[in-house]
Amino acid sequence: MDMRQSAEDEAFRQTVRTYFRETYPAGIIAKLANGQTLKKQDMVASEQALSARGWLAPGWPAEYGGPGWTITQRFIFDEELERAGAPNVSPMGLLYVAPVIYTFGTPEQKSRWLGDILSARTFWAQGYSEPEAGSDLASLRTRAVLDGDHYVVDGEKIWTSDAHYADWIFCLVRTEDAARKQDGITFLCIDMTTPGVQVVPIITIDGGHHLNRVVFDNVRVPVDNRIGDEGKGWTYARRLLSYERTSYAHVAAKRRQIEDLKGLLAEASSAGAAFDQDDFRRRLAAVEVQLDALEMTVLRALAPLAAGQAPGDEASIIKIAATETAQAITELFVELAGVHALPKFPDRSGADWRAGLEAIPAFAAPATAAYFLARAQTIYGGATEIQKNIIARQLGL
Ligand SMILES: Cc1cc2nc3c(=O)[nH]c(=O)nc-3n(C[C@H](O)[C@H](O)[C@H](O)COP(=O)(O)OP(=O)(O)OC[C@H]3O[C@@H](n4cnc5c(N)ncnc54)[C@H](O)[C@@H]3O)c2cc1C
Repeated sequence: MDMRQSAEDEAFRQTVRTYFRETYPAGIIAKLANGQTLKKQDMVASEQALSARGWLAPGWPAEYGGPGWTITQRFIFDEELERAGAPNVSPMGLLYVAPVIYTFGTPEQKSRWLGDILSARTFWAQGYSEPEAGSDLASLRTRAVLDGDHYVVDGEKIWTSDAHYADWIFCLVRTEDAARKQDGITFLCIDMTTPGVQVVPIITIDGGHHLNRVVFDNVRVPVDNRIGDEGKGWTYARRLLSYERTSYAHVAAKRRQIEDLKGLLAEASSAGAAFDQDDFRRRLAAVEVQLDALEMTVLRALAPLAAGQAPGDEASIIKIAATETAQAITELFVELAGVHALPKFPDRSGADWRAGLEAIPAFAAPATAAYFLARAQTIYGGATEIQKNIIARQLGL
């Protein structure tokens, strides 16, 4: 793959950079820079701004509302969004379920769901994992029984990110007990307001509400909400996971964090902080090299996407490299925070969240929360051990 960027690509970069500097809602970037957590209305405002510009779904084919960018332009856009300090989009609708809908859905399903995702009118959650079916996803037990033109769904999903924000959830449900457990699984889209759907919050170690249990009790779901054939959901689910695993790279955001670390290190250094700064510099450099390698791997993996194919098993390599790099970066922040990294998780939803905490460096509380939350990165989207199994299988080991 030719890594050089053309004059057109450079002009495109400048257009995107100018947009984030001059047009995109500055208040959202300011909130993140101030260490605040974003609320759903911030995410809606962010995504509606991108949608108004026609830039919310860079990866979608133009016929469904994508901007028709080349793969290089998509890469540049992601870089500039993260460089500007804007939030990444909520992936469940835009990046995960939408490609399944436009690849396997009926014309009616495409017109029913894609427009609302593209205009940030609806948010989605991913209902895959269950209490006894995480890595071993095909063991899932949430059951859908056909009753006329509806399925009746009973069961429970767990670790469901942002289900408390979601309007829809896409679920894997069991419609048949087949000899091979991957068979008999069906892909259903469920309106979260349907009677019998209950969302129970799970508070994570960083003190935040990101996760939920979603309980389905006698939930009636129209058969029209099924994507593809009954019992063939595993095929669609696997395709979706390859998109999910490639989406974790966030190279430019990590570069920003490394620049922040360098700035904080310089401050600590001139303040005469008592820690082994040479050792810290060495480890920071090692993480930077790791990030360079990740970037090259992402660029290589873009080639099949450019040819219109789904990402291959290299998605597993990116998942491992990206999440381990992310964790290494959060460790360096926590180390710089020193004693101020003791877990205390103030409510950071308001602009004045630091009131009473002025003695603590501004970055310390968000960095500590990010450190704890980043532990989950090597678990969700398929744990690191599972990715290694996939790579080993691919290598014929
Ligand atoms: C923050 C967060 C957000 C999440 N968001 C969502 C979401 O939105 N939707 C959703 O559906 N799920 C979500 N998940 C669930 C996530 O996908 C699962 O937690 C993950 O797949 C692991 O499953 P498990 O938790 O059941 O662990 P287990 O599968 O029980 O694994 C426990 C440990 O055993 C190891 N292990 C298991 N099987 C093997 C094997 N065959 N070989 C080697 N090692 C193995 C695992 O690597 C892990 O270390 C989220 C999880 C987290 C932490």
